[in-house]
Amino acid sequence: MAKIEFRHVVKRFGAVDVIPDMNLVIDDGEFVALLGPSGCGKSTSLFMLAGIYLPSGGELLFDGRVVNEVEARDRNVGIVFQSYALYPHMSVRDNILFPLRFKKTPRDEALARVKAVAELVRVEELLDRRPGELSGGQQQRVALARALVKEPELLLLDEPLSNLDASLRLSMRTEIKSLHAQLGVTTLLVTHDQIEATTMADRIICMRAGRIEQVGTPDDLYLRPSSLFVAGFIGSPP
Ligand code: ADP
Ligand code: MG
Repeated sequence: MAKIEFRHVVKRFGAVDVIPDMNLVIDDGEFVALLGPSGCGKSTSLFMLAGIYLPSGGELLFDGRVVNEVEARDRNVGIVFQSYALYPHMSVRDNILFPLRFKKTPRDEALARVKAVAELVRVEELLDRRPGELSGGQQQRVALARALVKEPELLLLDEPLSNLDASLRLSMRTEIKSLHAQLGVTTLLVTHDQIEATTMADRIICMRAGRIEQVGTPDDLYLRPSSLFVAGFIGSPP
């Protein structure tokens, strides 16, 4: 069954249709990349999945249920942003604990969950620190732990590696892939980096100016680009 479906989804800001008509199916457990140049509507699409932006038209479905009106906190979605967006005044432990605040999870159970996800992303030694004391890579691991603590049905990653230096970016790609392999959580990675998309995703959704230009495996896009735009963007011969 499809986990996520965009059915004729529109997103309009003022008079501008930033997303004029989006149609897309993401299967349960898939790792897909939304790839395209800056300003093409990747984050807008991700924000609609997160419940941060409401669609202006069409239907957004999770497991066949329309979620257009479901508030962000009532969607079981974890998000990691490009800038870590951790709360600077809180310890790493409290940052990771934060998404559980609306849930009636008993405190000791919540703390056990925090410990488990912290071990998963290897930040268990850092739980008493503040975000300001951590490196960029460590902060991004904490952000991942925070995104995973509710055991989300969907993990959204918006340019999560863009602020990291090249070697760290490389190792984090592998770490995120291995997390996905362990957890099997449906994952949408937003990126403008074609190497990141081709090395990490099972399927790539290539966007241009609010529209989906091509959907396929990294090989499909590389070997059989549907347009000069895709060829140019992926770096394959036209
Ligand atoms: P990307 O993530 O691919 O770089 P975005 O989804 O952030 O692109 O933006 C797509 C377009 O929508 C841009 O032209 C941007 O200016 C516009 N946009 C995004 N969010 C808003 C908003 N809250 N209000 C008005 N315009 C917006
Ligand atoms: Mg963006």
